[in-house]
Amino acid sequence: MRTRTAVLLTAVVPAAVGAAVLALKAGHWQLYVDRHRIELTPRPRRSCRNCRGAGGWWIGGPFPEMEACGCWSGRHELRLRLLPVPPWPDEPPF
Ligand SMILES: [Zn+2]
Repeated sequence: MRTRTAVLLTAVVPAAVGAAVLALKAGHWQLYVDRHRIELTPRPRRSCRNCRGAGGWWIGGPFPEMEACGCWSGRHELRLRLLPVPPWPDEPPF
């Protein structure tokens, strides 16, 4: 019975949120929900030996760049498109 209530709540909550945006960070994933898409993106692991949760490190030289760690950059991002984004108007706004 409790699982049935939980399933009903998970089905009702997104409808009640409506146009609101939901962003949730749990574990090593980030969930982003709005009316146009649902995204599940990987985050750096705090237990990673290389970056220790920072997500990367700086490479020295005259033009320093940040190199992404493989603990999150090698994983796939999941995206579900819901409503299409309206096209950008061709006319200038003024
Ligand atoms: Zn890492």
